[in-house]
Amino acid sequence: MREETLRKIAEKIFQSRRTVVFVGAGLSTESGIPDFRSPGGLWTRFDPEEFTYQNFLASEKARERYWQFGREVYALIKAAQPNAAHLAIAEMERMGLLDCLITQNIDGLHFKAGNSPERVIEIHGTVMYVLCLSCGKRYERDEIEARLAAGEKVPRCDYCNGLLKPATVAFGQPMPERETMEAFRRAEAADLFICIGSSLVVHPAAQLPVVAKEKGAFLVIINRDPTPCDGMADIVFRGQAGPAMAEVINFIREMRT
Ligand code: NAD
Repeated sequence: MREETLRKIAEKIFQSRRTVVFVGAGLSTESGIPDFRSPGGLWTRFDPEEFTYQNFLASEKARERYWQFGREVYALIKAAQPNAAHLAIAEMERMGLLDCLITQNIDGLHFKAGNSPERVIEIHGTVMYVLCLSCGKRYERDEIEARLAAGEKVPRCDYCNGLLKPATVAFGQPMPERETMEAFRRAEAADLFICIGSSLVVHPAAQLPVVAKEKGAFLVIINRDPTPCDGMADIVFRGQAGPAMAEVINFIREMRT
């Protein structure tokens, strides 16, 4: 049954012309980065209510806490390596079988795995950069980390003195317009839409599989736990993303020979 389902997913990828892969935090748990909703995740130690965009804007104390939390997350992400699922998606790109990858992840592991920036749409931003909320100046994250390590608690823009914030989308922060529009455009045009490792409850991102399905895409969901979109999917695979995608890519390799 498992093998049959994964083979079917591989066939679909092999046959489709516009495959869009849409991923969430579950893709990176096997790389040691905890997701939000599973037991033992980041939010059993930090309170999500605290790290909203509104709180960040509201007080120096909240910004200090945000950066403390952010530094911990960044250290974890920097040390992480892509797993079999990231590598499989990168291989799909090399095989010419990936229209684009829409990621809710902020960890940049797709690039470590070999995906190219032109194929990756980061709809929730990235930890790899820091942005000035006033003038938009972009900093390398490591540059700001060095300032924090040297004792700064709440870094400010050296150009305009505006507030600096990691280039991730916080709770309550508007989504990046260009990336969001592009993600919806690609979802609408997809003939195959594959969700991997996402609870599909964070909106508007969770609307993407719905839009893709409504526009006629074949919908595949690969996730450890049930999602609200399972009922509308053409194939649901319940299990670990890494081993599943490794098998899928093996089937595709066989089909290509
Ligand atoms: P989520 O935490 O809501 O859901 C993760 C889902 O992945 C769960 O349904 C779980 O069953 C599944 N899962 C966990 N490990 C899995 C595995 N090994 N194989 C298959 N499925 C697995 O995550 P979400 O839907 O991405 O939404 C949460 C938000 O959290 C996103 O906006 C994202 O930006 C952010 N986030 C990102 C990271 C990261 O960059 N790695 C980490 C934590 C949170």
